[in-house]
Amino acid sequence: MSRSAEENIIFDGRIRMPYKWAAGETSSYFLTQLRDHAKLWGTRCSVCQVIFIPPRKNCPRCVTADTTWVELPSRGVLQTFAVIYFSEPLLQPSEPPYIYGIVKLDGADTGLTHFLGEVAPGELRSGMRMEAVFKNKEDRSGLITDLLYFRPEGGSAS
Ligand SMILES: [Zn+2]
Repeated sequence: MSRSAEENIIFDGRIRMPYKWAAGETSSYFLTQLRDHAKLWGTRCSVCQVIFIPPRKNCPRCVTADTTWVELPSRGVLQTFAVIYFSEPLLQPSEPPYIYGIVKLDGADTGLTHFLGEVAPGELRSGMRMEAVFKNKEDRSGLITDLLYFRPEGGSAS
């Protein structure tokens, strides 16, 4: 008689594994400017002139590495948003409910995905003006969350 299993038993499991990784030259510059100066920088492709944020070392359209740094304002337009109600504590950066949005900073050609704050979901509209809110300088640590969230320009929408 064969010893092969007639049924594979499958267990659900979770592994938490601390790790470190280098952000790389481009992301490190972006994050240090955010941490040290509360400034948002993108890259401009010298071939197609598209301005990317988050910055890209190589233009994903032209594949050229000929890009330059461009300081962008901390204001822009909300392109779209989603309210997150689903809870997955090991993977999420915040306790639901929270709002993610894509904000296209003035002068940029791509949108930056981040939290939205100081606004109720029902007050949000695609196309509304938004501004970045940063952590205080002493609390910034070189993470994208040094940018706390975008809020309606001029403060709360209500
Ligand atoms: Zn390009």
